[in-house]
Amino acid sequence: MGLRHADFTQLFDHLSGRGRRPVANHIESCPACTENLEKARLILEAGRRAMKAPKPSKRAVGRAMRLFRGFHRPPRPGFLRLVLDSFLQPAPAVRSTAADPPRFLRFDGQITVELQLTAGSRGVDMHGQLTPSDCAREVEVRAADRVLRRARVGSEGHFEMTNLPRREVEIRIGEARIGGLHLA
Ligand SMILES: [Zn+2]
Repeated sequence: MGLRHADFTQLFDHLSGRGRRPVANHIESCPACTENLEKARLILEAGRRAMKAPKPSKRAVGRAMRLFRGFHRPPRPGFLRLVLDSFLQPAPAVRSTAADPPRFLRFDGQITVELQLTAGSRGVDMHGQLTPSDCAREVEVRAADRVLRRARVGSEGHFEMTNLPRREVEIRIGEARIGGLHLA
């Protein structure tokens, strides 16, 4: 293989046809990267579906507004910046949907964090990807200064948590923070 594993940015580039040839060669010959490519594809497709979704529900818009209020607070050191929220890029209304689409978020700063949030009957499921993949061993979700949940980060930078409570949380990834994220 002779090349380090592809990070998620490279996997997304590969999926969009903008990837570099040596990276593509590595991905095609590496089972770990092929597996991550599938995860990247699921995250990307969910993001695209959410962006193409018909008129977002009132709940989705309310969520987006709450998130934006948090986002517009003055930046604090160590906090990552929201650069993409699939719920904030609604497509023209065609018809209303019964189910909310998964929400795809991307935060940038000293590291990049991609999150996919799926609302379930018992809470919110979170799939995340860190770039660089080795920037932290653990991810912590906190609310009101208490730890709600911790998850181990896999060797490829992926982590997941299920049935998170529907409330505003802060996420800590090593020294980096995501603040004011409303899980709903
Ligand atoms: Zn690899």
